[in-house]
Amino acid sequence: MNTLLCISAHPDDEALSFGALLMQAARLGWSIHLAWATVGEKSSSLDANRRWQEALQVADLLKATAHRFGLGDGHVSMGEFIPLADRLVRELKPTVVAWPCGTSPEQHQDHRVIHEGMLNIAGRSPYASSCWCIGQPPVEPDPAFCQPQFYFCYGESLLQDSISLMAAYQSEKQKRFASPHFLRSRAEQWAVRAGTAALFAEPFMLAKGIPPADLFLREIEIESRSLIANGQLTNDSNYHFDQSMSLLSNDSGDTVFGTPATSRPTNS
Ligand SMILES: [Zn+2]
Repeated sequence: MNTLLCISAHPDDEALSFGALLMQAARLGWSIHLAWATVGEKSSSLDANRRWQEALQVADLLKATAHRFGLGDGHVSMGEFIPLADRLVRELKPTVVAWPCGTSPEQHQDHRVIHEGMLNIAGRSPYASSCWCIGQPPVEPDPAFCQPQFYFCYGESLLQDSISLMAAYQSEKQKRFASPHFLRSRAEQWAVRAGTAALFAEPFMLAKGIPPADLFLREIEIESRSLIANGQLTNDSNYHFDQSMSLLSNDSGDTVFGTPATSRPTNS
């Protein structure tokens, strides 16, 4: 069975960084494990127990197993974090390991430690054992700190699912980055940058390994009412993206959206 292991500093980082990919893995029946270094007990919004209950709700929505490392919010150290994450990786032998990017100096210090720690573990792992993916920073105003190498592209229904995932963090709902509007507009911007015909995208950087096609490139559900309304797509066919995520074809193999790479202009 395919296994997706996600490791983040605080409950909500995973939903903000790659909520749609998590929902897709759940739809495909992957075994999902969510690990959190802390329960975010220093967050301005609440007590630790409530945040942990919300994390368990998220795990429930994904039929995932939750792992609580129990480290101190705001002062996670590499020395504490690495052995815990290392052990989980060795136990689960995941197909994909994912964590949110923490390279920006603006990021919470725990995000930076988790990022460095995961790079350390990936670096020591055999190349073919797992695919190690870095998701977008949970909240990052400076786009320079996310330079994606590939994208997970998706449609309206997965967007709604990923918004429901974030909505489980009720205690965070006053924060602007938790709003459905923010999540939608960010995902739309990534789709534009990806050059995909899909409506939404989540960006990823690759630390090691090969992203499995059945998670990232599997037929993508398109529920684009606007494309259908424009007559570019019809309701009665399944659509599939090519490897570059920029050509969409129907079941008969006809390109229905996008321009083949050979005739695509280098800029617009
Ligand atoms: Zn966080």
